[in-house]
Amino acid sequence: MRTETTACILCSRNCGLEVELDGERFARIRGDAKHPCSQGYVCQKAARLDYYQNHDDRLTRPLRRRPDGEFEPVSWDAALSDIATRLNAIRDEHGGDAFAFAGGGGQGNHLGAPYSSQLPAAMGSRFVYNSLAQEKTGDFWVNGRLFGRQNCHGTEDVEHADFVLFIGTNPFQAHGIPNARDALKAIRRDPTRTMVVVDPRRTDTAKMADVHLQLRPGTDAYLMSALLAIVVQNDLHDRAFLERRCTGFEQLERVLRDVPVAEYVERAGVDPADVERVARGLAAAESATVRIDLGIQQTLHSTLNSYLEKLLFLITGNFGKRGGNNLHTFLLPIIGHTDERDVIDGKPLRRTTHHGMFPIAGLYPPAILPDEILHGGVRAIFVESCNPAVSWPDSDAYEQAFEKLELLVVVDVALTETARFADYVLPASSQFEKWEATGFNLEFPDNYFHLRHPLFPAKGDTLPEAEIYTRLLEKMGVIPDRFPGLERLARLEPAATRHLVLLAKLARTFAKDRELSKYGASILYRTLGKHLPDGAAAAAPLLVLAMRYAARYPQQVRRAGIDGNRLTLGGNLFRAILDSRSGVTISKHEYDEVWDLVQTADGRIHLAISEMLEELQSLRHTAPPNGEYPFVLLAGERRSYNANQIYRNPEWRKIDPNGAMRMHPEDARELGLTQDDRATCSSATGSVEVSVDLDDGLRRGVVSLPHGYGMRYRGGPPQGPQINRITASASCDPLAKTPYHKHVPVRIERARG
Ligand code: SF4
Repeated sequence: MRTETTACILCSRNCGLEVELDGERFARIRGDAKHPCSQGYVCQKAARLDYYQNHDDRLTRPLRRRPDGEFEPVSWDAALSDIATRLNAIRDEHGGDAFAFAGGGGQGNHLGAPYSSQLPAAMGSRFVYNSLAQEKTGDFWVNGRLFGRQNCHGTEDVEHADFVLFIGTNPFQAHGIPNARDALKAIRRDPTRTMVVVDPRRTDTAKMADVHLQLRPGTDAYLMSALLAIVVQNDLHDRAFLERRCTGFEQLERVLRDVPVAEYVERAGVDPADVERVARGLAAAESATVRIDLGIQQTLHSTLNSYLEKLLFLITGNFGKRGGNNLHTFLLPIIGHTDERDVIDGKPLRRTTHHGMFPIAGLYPPAILPDEILHGGVRAIFVESCNPAVSWPDSDAYEQAFEKLELLVVVDVALTETARFADYVLPASSQFEKWEATGFNLEFPDNYFHLRHPLFPAKGDTLPEAEIYTRLLEKMGVIPDRFPGLERLARLEPAATRHLVLLAKLARTFAKDRELSKYGASILYRTLGKHLPDGAAAAAPLLVLAMRYAARYPQQVRRAGIDGNRLTLGGNLFRAILDSRSGVTISKHEYDEVWDLVQTADGRIHLAISEMLEELQSLRHTAPPNGEYPFVLLAGERRSYNANQIYRNPEWRKIDPNGAMRMHPEDARELGLTQDDRATCSSATGSVEVSVDLDDGLRRGVVSLPHGYGMRYRGGPPQGPQINRITASASCDPLAKTPYHKHVPVRIERARG
């Protein structure tokens, strides 16, 4: 038995853990009090992590598909040689547009990202498809227009806010804010603080709220417009803040003064007095914050919703202050900035062939990928840490598209549903068998980074992503396998400024051969990485990221307790990250320093976004959805025992083994259904069989299904509903193409037999 520290990998909070290990198993798991952010907090899901680390579908050696469709074991060398040859041939014959990369990092495995991002570069492709682009790209797009860059990402100071407005999120189950359950309990206990929840279901969070606005699904844009209009029409907005810090309020004000509040509130199906109370409470609060999530990002008017929720805290002056909304820094840049109006070499930013879709924050949306394969010329795909066949919209379309590919390679820890279509399946070491880190360090004013060390030896013949991609690039011939000059420098005894000598030499190498600059991560891995302590080679690119971070925020890094001058601060930050086993505070900002993170040329927030104002004005002329399907399905609910695709062994669940469909008892009674009956849930795309769970917390006419089910285990049938059999790729936001998973029109019937 030994005790180690690590982090939970089940949601974006990545809480610090103290774990007792018995050989290659987790024996006991609890919160790590030394973790600078979570400080000992955990929820019930983390205790079951052994079901991720040890299960029967773990991959232990590379697999190759035979002509008869079965897999056979193959050596790494043979697999990577053949993949490299085929990738080079596809690129040389069809160009970069024939290649796409899908996935890349789940809830806590982002240290591979600097390595995996080199592969599209080697292929001359910008097509990176990622789950964030079926959730958050509308939000990123709006951030780009408001704050100047799409990676100006927001955070909410729920802990210090007097007034908290949760819209389309259930932090009690979905987390997303620091130590969510403790934070919710603290608000509930304090009579001077107010919690408002906007959600079609009476969730665990809604049960704790002062006000629950149980709106009709898909009407969030109407409700938020009404809230904004009440503030503006009653002159409750923060004029001083708007004049000093923002531009474009006059245009916005004209539109909001025109909003028919009563009509919109009626359309949302909530009590007008409650809406008035919430609007006035938000405007009057000393500090208020708005926290949202997929409930509004995956429903009708997705991108507009992202705009409106930000206006709620902006027009009330709740930005850049304690208890408000703020921006945060990134050490590991998990998103970028790709404004569709930009041009590269005189040409519009690369659009996809079939849909003509542009990237947002560097990412393309999963909703279009099957079409781009079937009709747009994508011939080869590399999938990493992702299971599109189950988790991206329209599973049937994905299966059909995967069959058409010339080459599908999957890198994963398990034989996923997507891996079953692959030509090669490459086994990655688990997140507890290698150096790892999360890029979800989204905090302000203090920010943190946690580099996790391996707890177990790598299982079988698995490899970390750093090694997989570096070997593949070497096989493709885009990088040499030796850099003698750099290796010599990397070997030298560490000194406070030694890394500068190495990086200067690296810069000279890149100046001589610009192509090599695309592969800095692998070059550092092969040189500096070899000499990092405890085999932490994969962490080598963090040196460059730490130096950039320290150069940009020197004062804030020093406030976090990292010493150093202009030359040494970045190296010392890197060293602190390497040395810390429980995570480290990397920066401490003051609240008003958030304005240094705003990236517009004039340093102000640009409120008038023409596309959004047009859509806002057109709301009143948009007819409510009205079709042949009497129910609206909220697909992808977060519950006590679901966790994306991370746990494959269904035995990890203590409850809800079938991922039951929740529906109102009166709706069930009218259909002749009772608790645990089997029913079919059918959309225009397909149908799934479900078991019924009666829940009077839902609005009438609304049903819900969880995500994280539908995987096969030990070759058996899917466990629980595969919700993407009934979602449609075409049912998505017109701008960002985020799917309307929280508004799927369905019919419910008793299952035959
Ligand atoms: S599931 Fe999320 S909130 Fe729960 S312990 Fe893991 S990281 Fe923390």
